[in-house]
Amino acid sequence: MQPKVFYTIMPDGTVKQVNPFTGTEVWAVAGRRNKPLANIEAGQPKPLTVRSPEDYCSFCTPRYFEVPPEKSRLVRRGERWERLDFVAPDRYFDTTAEFRRVGNMFEIVTLDYWRKNYAYKMTAPRQKWKEDYIANPAGLKHIMDIMQFRLRREGRTDAQIEKMAVSEKLALADAFFGGSHEQIIARRHYREDAQTETDLRASGDLTGEEHYWYFRMTIDALHDIALANRYVRYVSVYQNWLKPAGASFDHLHKQLVALDEWGASIQNQIRMLRDDPNVFNDLAANFAAHHNLIFAENDHAIAMVGIGHRYPTVEIYSRSNAGRPHEHSEEAIRGMSDLVHAVHAATGNDISANEEWYYTPVDAVYKMPWHVLIKWRINTPAGFEGGTSIFIIPITPIELRDRIVPRLYKLREERKVAWLRIAEECRVDPNPLKYYLK
Ligand SMILES: [Zn+2]
Repeated sequence: MQPKVFYTIMPDGTVKQVNPFTGTEVWAVAGRRNKPLANIEAGQPKPLTVRSPEDYCSFCTPRYFEVPPEKSRLVRRGERWERLDFVAPDRYFDTTAEFRRVGNMFEIVTLDYWRKNYAYKMTAPRQKWKEDYIANPAGLKHIMDIMQFRLRREGRTDAQIEKMAVSEKLALADAFFGGSHEQIIARRHYREDAQTETDLRASGDLTGEEHYWYFRMTIDALHDIALANRYVRYVSVYQNWLKPAGASFDHLHKQLVALDEWGASIQNQIRMLRDDPNVFNDLAANFAAHHNLIFAENDHAIAMVGIGHRYPTVEIYSRSNAGRPHEHSEEAIRGMSDLVHAVHAATGNDISANEEWYYTPVDAVYKMPWHVLIKWRINTPAGFEGGTSIFIIPITPIELRDRIVPRLYKLREERKVAWLRIAEECRVDPNPLKYYLK
C-alpha cells in the first residue's frame, strides 16, 4: 500500500480527499456542484395549521405521556435554569420542560443485552424510582399505555397483549427505567413565528443560552449513563435532524446510546494517539490551518471543514486539556456549545444533518480531544460508492467554507450567535488543541 495524500486539488477542480483518521476516500467532483442543497422540497411549502399548545408529535409538550418516564427536565424560572430529576408522573404538567431526558422506547442496545451478556442489574436508585413510579396511579397508567403501544409496534396482537400478566408487562418496562439508550428532547416543535410546515425549530434556532443548556443536559446524561452501568465503555451521542439524516421525528432531540466497546473508528484513533500524542493537532487542526480550512474560533473551540467524510462535514474541536465533555469547565462547555450553535445557525433548518460527538472513552488512558462533527446529509451514496469505496460529494471543502463564512458574519452582526472570530480573524496558532497536556 502506498501512503495516501490526504488532500489534492486536481487541475480540473476535482478535490480528492482521504480522511487521515478513517482512511475514507472522497472526491468532490467538478461539475456536480450545482445541485440544490436543501432537503426540504422546493416549491410552495404547506401552510402550517397553528396549534397552541403545540401538539404535532409525541415529543410535543401536551404529550409527555407518549414517551418513557422522565429522568430529568430543565425548567426556566426567570433568568435561572433549574434541573428537576424524577418528577412524579402526576406532577408532569406542574412545570414546562425546556428540555426533557427520557429513555428511548425502542432501544438500539437493549437492557436485556446488558443483563444477558454482563449480568447487569439496575441500580438501587433506579429500582426505587420504578417502584415509586408504578405505585402512583398516573405512573401505572402511563407504563401500561406505552407498553401497549410498544408491544403493538413489535407485532403482537391485541389478544396476545390482553393475555399477558400485568407483572410481565411491568418487568418489560424495566428498560424504561434502567436502560441506557436515552433522548434529550427540546420543548418546541416549530419556530415561534412559524407559518409553514418547513418552519421547524432546529438547533440553530435556539438561543445561545438554550443551546448551552441543551449541551449541559446531554453531558450530564452522558456522565450519568456511564455511572449507572459499570460495563459501559463508551456512550455514543448524536443528533439526527430531519428524515434524510435518520430522524423519526421532525422535533429537535439528541440521543445517547451506551456501548460495551469503542467501535472500530475510535479504536483506530486511540491507536494513532498512542503512536503520536499530537496527532489531532498534526492531522486535524494544523493540517486544516495549512489548507485554510479553519473558518471560526473562540477561546475554547475551533471550527474547520473536515476532509474525507462521506458527507460535507464541519468539525468543531474543543481546545481544552480535558478529554471528556463532563471534565470540561463551564466556560469550555459554553465555548464548544457556542461554536456548534453558530455552525448549526449558519447551516439553517432546511439542511438535513447529523451531529456526532467524539471524545476520550470511559476506559481510555490516551486522551482524545472532544470534537463534534456536523454532517450535511445532502448526497446519497449509491452503487458507485459501493463498488469503488470512493465517495462522491457535491461540494468541495473550500466551497463549504465559503458558504458558511458569509452567514456567520451576518449572524454575528445580528447578535444571533455568541461572539466568535471568523475566517481571517482566526489566530490559527500552531497546536491549538491542548488535550495532550497533563
Ligand atoms: Zn413535536
